[in-house]
Amino acid sequence: MNRLDGKVAIVTGAGRGIGRAIAEALHAEGATTIATSRASSDPTFGEIHYAQLDVADEADWRRVVTDVLEVHGHIDILVNNAGIIAYEPLHELTIEDWHNVVATNQTGVWLGMREVVPHMITQGGGSIVNISSIWGSAAVGGAHAYHATKGAVRNMSKNAAITYATQKVRVNSLHPGFIETPLTDSQAPAVNEYVVSQTPMGRAGRPHEIAAGVVFLASDEASFVTGSELVIDGGYLAQ
Ligand code: NAP
Repeated sequence: MNRLDGKVAIVTGAGRGIGRAIAEALHAEGATTIATSRASSDPTFGEIHYAQLDVADEADWRRVVTDVLEVHGHIDILVNNAGIIAYEPLHELTIEDWHNVVATNQTGVWLGMREVVPHMITQGGGSIVNISSIWGSAAVGGAHAYHATKGAVRNMSKNAAITYATQKVRVNSLHPGFIETPLTDSQAPAVNEYVVSQTPMGRAGRPHEIAAGVVFLASDEASFVTGSELVIDGGYLAQ
């Protein structure tokens, strides 16, 4: 008996990094898992189902949710993981960069919740996990649009949790600290070294350590957990 047997899960931004680890962990715990990303196909997923989904695209969401319901009958878990970063401080941000980050990190989360919540209500409940960041609760210099959107995800999650609490749709945000992924691999080494040096455990986190938190929030073990912020950051925010 696995922890997510019988459940159907959608994960966004699952082509690599944290999203991929989340999709693999949900699958390993027995969930029928639909990994999604912008690429048109991903043959490397094996038993995990795959669908193309740009989270900022309303039509993509409608298609994927309709297809999943048609094939699998229900959606029990939604993990809004897809995210991008722009490093500029606010006075150097272009309007295009701002809209781009907001479209993926914030509008994408809203669209995903909007498309699945009515079905979760009808079927008697579900669990939504929105991936925010330590930068949704605290700040470093620069990356203004990223901080703005990750803070928004934190409070969007609380609002949704309260709005749908009696309908048994649980909504929680998860706040990773510094995690080794293609995103952080592509950052300036000095930025990475600084954040790791400020992390009390003195090391980077790994994608599976975030996925473990998602599995808990997605499972019935978290049946009384909604509107919470699960921080997995090696102690960063405790300082
Ligand atoms: P990553 O390695 O860059 O992976 C991000 C994934 O999101 C990619 O698969 C990317 O797919 C996808 N994506 C980007 N824009 C998308 C869109 N419009 N529609 C659908 N998919 C899209 O990043 P990561 O480090 O795994 O981060 C995953 C999440 O954790 C993000 O929300 C990030 O903000 C958050 N986070 C990460 C860290 C960290 O230290 N790594 C810390 C805190 C929070 P494409 O191949 O299509 O680009």
